[in-house]
Amino acid sequence: MTFDKNHLWHPYTSMVCPLPCYKVVSANGVRLKLEDGRELIDGMSSWWAAVHGYNHPALNEALIEQCNKMSHVMFGGLTHEPAISLGKKLLQLLPAGLEYIFYADSGSIAVEVAMKMAMQYWHSRGEPRRKKFVTIRSGYHGDTWNAMSVCDPEGGMHSLWSGALTPQIFVPTFSQEFSVKGFEPMRTAIEAHHKEVAAVIVEPIVQGAGGMRFYDPKYLIELRKICNECGLLLIFDEIATGFGRTGKMFACEWAGVTPDIICIGKALTGGYMTLAATIANHRVAHGIEGAFMHGPTFMANPLACAVADASLGLLIENCPLQRIREIENQLEIGLAPARVLENVADVRVLGAIGVVEMRQPVELERIQRMFVERGVWVRPFGRLVYVMPPYIIADGELMALTGAVVEVLKAY
Ligand SMILES: *Cc1c(COP(=O)(O)O)cnc(C)c1O
Repeated sequence: MTFDKNHLWHPYTSMVCPLPCYKVVSANGVRLKLEDGRELIDGMSSWWAAVHGYNHPALNEALIEQCNKMSHVMFGGLTHEPAISLGKKLLQLLPAGLEYIFYADSGSIAVEVAMKMAMQYWHSRGEPRRKKFVTIRSGYHGDTWNAMSVCDPEGGMHSLWSGALTPQIFVPTFSQEFSVKGFEPMRTAIEAHHKEVAAVIVEPIVQGAGGMRFYDPKYLIELRKICNECGLLLIFDEIATGFGRTGKMFACEWAGVTPDIICIGKALTGGYMTLAATIANHRVAHGIEGAFMHGPTFMANPLACAVADASLGLLIENCPLQRIREIENQLEIGLAPARVLENVADVRVLGAIGVVEMRQPVELERIQRMFVERGVWVRPFGRLVYVMPPYIIADGELMALTGAVVEVLKAY
């Protein structure tokens, strides 16, 4: 642990003043086992990813079987069954019309690829001036350079990089309920800039790491309409919301709206390893003339594709949407007592996501310890204490999880 503290960077931490870490030795179902023998009920699904829980026999088997055949082979000029089989399942699950799949190595890269596709599309169409992106404040799209340019300017620390990041077009956030007034800034921004805009990029229905904000499907319906009117491409980042998390297989289904390009990741491999994908419609895929200029070394890694294929197999076989509705009800009931706490500003639930928004940012180290002491793994950020458990969580475990959240916030 001293080595870890002295030499290993963790997400969003400092080497000068590192936050403490807990050492996990194994994980099974919804439980993480710490080095000292304590077991924690996982409320995070390892950041939206481990939807089937840990150490799942079917996923383990898929990985081992593929490992014994081949772990990797370049995707340039070669192909393999895991990539094909996974692609077929993706088309089965995705909204109709999204059918041209680019496998990427992580969510951030999937966003880079989507932005590049949009730009190259306009380049091929003879409008190379279109290089800007319109997005909503409080968004999060990843940590690589271009993805960062469309993250919330404050939360995304744009001030650190001012002058180095491509300036994009941001519209303000709006209330959860749809109103014409709330949509007006988006309309104005698009109308003012549409000749230089390549695409609009948003997280549909739920803005994740940028603020855990939920919003009305009607906003997306209006957005699709105006993109059509102005001929703009629409990109949905479903890296967090995809694969059932909001109660639909993809969040855009709440609005019945299909984007031109969708980004998926996180839960794609059931939380086993890194894999993401950018999927385009016919207009984009066939509108890009010549080679699309991207090709990572580990593109369509067979191990990742095999485990993703098995994970989607589980989603197709035992569709979790009914269970997610039950989880939603139970989160609603379990977190309700937090509503009356003085330090709590808001409690909101959608699908298998439960959010408690505090009035003040929490002290991470202290609150983290309190959660661990109560046998649960919850990782808040800023003013947000939130849970998105694996779909396989049992009623009793979910009750323990929400109970611990309420208890900790009471004592905090
Ligand atoms: C996590 C996330 C990303 C980035 O994915 P990584 O795999 O961490 O690079 C992008 N967009 C959204 C909406 C995310 O939640």
